[in-house]
Formats: sequence, structure tokens, C-alpha cells
Amino acid sequence: MFVGVNQGLYMGLANHKSTKNIRPDRSLLTELPKIEVHRHLEGTYPIDSLYRMALKNDLDVPNTLQAFKEAFQFPKDHEPDFLLFLSKFKKFWYKTIEDVSTIAYDSVKSFADENLHYIELRFNPLHFTELTDLDPKDVTTTIIESSDAAAKEINMEIRYLLTFNRSVQTADDMLKTYKELHDIDLSRVVGIDLAGDEINFPPELFGDFFDVVKKDGRFGIDIHAGEVTDSKNMWVSIDQLHTDRIGHGVAAINDPEIQEVLKKKNIFLAQCITSNYQTGAWEDETTHPMKTLVESGVPVTIASDDPTIQDSLLVDDYEKAVKNFSWTVNDLIESNIKSVDSCFLSDAEKAQLTESYRSAVKAFRMRVGL
Ligand SMILES: [Zn+2]
Repeated sequence: MFVGVNQGLYMGLANHKSTKNIRPDRSLLTELPKIEVHRHLEGTYPIDSLYRMALKNDLDVPNTLQAFKEAFQFPKDHEPDFLLFLSKFKKFWYKTIEDVSTIAYDSVKSFADENLHYIELRFNPLHFTELTDLDPKDVTTTIIESSDAAAKEINMEIRYLLTFNRSVQTADDMLKTYKELHDIDLSRVVGIDLAGDEINFPPELFGDFFDVVKKDGRFGIDIHAGEVTDSKNMWVSIDQLHTDRIGHGVAAINDPEIQEVLKKKNIFLAQCITSNYQTGAWEDETTHPMKTLVESGVPVTIASDDPTIQDSLLVDDYEKAVKNFSWTVNDLIESNIKSVDSCFLSDAEKAQLTESYRSAVKAFRMRVGL
């Protein structure tokens, strides 16, 4: 998708013999095909779609879009605040299964504007059922069908992770939900995610549940850990929860030993610069550990987490990597190619994804003269 490029820059790029040192601008970064494995559906609704749904459902919300945005997004000039960040996730939006379908469809359709080539989108079925009489199985099926339909229209590959919230469910409750969901077609689901408050609900509480998931051998395991704690939760996630991938894991920067384990086991950290700043996981975007971790060979993939809550897009995180780490467009392409290995896909599917991503990059280079 062409989004108003800086022709002057591209003319310059076209004549440039080496692209290694190119510092891409935002329009070029928007155009760049992207692979993303850490984004929550509940945090990526287009704000205007959400506003429309709130009005339709007669919810008590501010009556202008601007005021609505201010109420439901993390204020851009606010100091980092984990609890304020979490407080922005509301559950009162939905009244019917059509609402769930519409918001999932609109969300995935909007990914075209970000040039997402492949995404693993996660959602917690219970988020949609807590304040409604909807069935988690219907919710799961509806989200997958509506998102698949939107992804097909924009020619994007998509898979799903089911999120379990450690602040809401015990390991036994999770197991019950997990088993119930097996009544429906989960062939599009590739992973199970543990999210929520890792301080008060540490990973060791959920070992029994993830033993079952691991034994099933059907899904990749992705644990939010080392986001707002030290690296202990990362160790437990690896040793007891069998994690294949870690959400954030910024704490790895202070633990050389775990860095070696991540490298050896090829466990990717999906790191989110904007989110990590807003939640207080990392206090300064300019010194985010992603750069150092990547340079020392730790597998890291860039992700957005919750664009709506953050009032940002994945391209903002790319822009920050360029500005703060001096990464070039080739560095970002390389990062995306490496990220294929972080995906919960079979080897054959990964090979296909690498090929299709390389083709998309080739088309991108032609389009922008790079
Ligand atoms: Zn997350």
C-alpha cells in the first residue's frame, strides 16, 4: 500500500550505491512489510470503530472523539504508570456477538495501513464474556472467522494466540477453559499466552497448566515475563512453563546468564519500546535494551503490544529503533527475516513465510526505489 512517500529521499536512495547507512523516514517505515508476533486484539481496535460501537451501544462515554481518545488512551505526556496503562483496557464495549465480529474485522482490516505481512494476533476469549452472556467458544470462533475474512481481503497472513490472564484465573480455571475451547476448531490457533500482573501472580503458579499445554504439543507457549520484574520470572517461565517465546523480557539486560540460555534455546524476546516506556518497564526509550541485546546475539523481535491504548502504531516502534539505535532500513528488514524464526509455525510454513516476505520486500524496494 502506497502512503505518500518522500520522493526526494527515494530519488536519493535510488542513486545510492549502498543502502547500508540509509536512515529511513516515517513514510518509508510505514511502507516496509512487517512481521509481528506480539499484539493484543483488545489493545488494537481502531479508535473510530470503538467510538462508533460505544455510541451504538449507548455507553456512558465522552461525546466527542477527541475526549473519547483522551479517556481511553494512555496520555502521551503522562509519566510511565503500569496500573494506569492496565486501567485503559475496558470490557464494557460489547453487547452482542456482532460487536465482537465487527471490532475484530475492523482491527485486522486496519493492519493494511501498517503493511503487516504476517501477524500472530492474541486475544483472551474471557475478556469478551465477563460482562456479557456470550459464550467463550462462540467468541473465539467469531474472532477467528471475522479476522480471517479481513486478513484475506488485505492479503495478509494471520494466526492466533489464546491469552490467559493470570490476574483473573487460577491454573485450574485456565485448564478448564482450555479444555472447553477444544470443542471448537482451533486449527488457526498456534499459541497459548500468559498475560496480566506478573508481580502478584508469578509464573510458578501456572506450571501445572502449562505442563498440560506442553504435553499436548499442539501450541507454542508465550509468557509475559521480565517486563516489570527482574529476570527471575523469565527463568521460571523457561524452566517450569516451557516457554518458547517471552513477552518483553527487558530484565534480560541485567542477566548475562539468561542471555546465554535465550541464545542457546533460540527463545525470542518480543520487545515493545513504546509499551515498555508507558508501563514503566523501561524508563528511557533512547536506552531501551533491545539494541544491546540484539548486538550480543539474543533473539529479539520488535512488536507493538497495544497500539490503541498507547496511541501509537508498530511504525512508531520502528521509528524509535531508527532514531535511538541508528538502525537502517536494511537492519529492520534483517530483523523481520530473523523474526520468522520466532513464529509458531512449522518449518515448511516458516520457509514459505520467508519466501513471501522476501518477495514483499523486493516489491517494496522497487516501489520506493531502494
Ligand atoms: Zn503483551
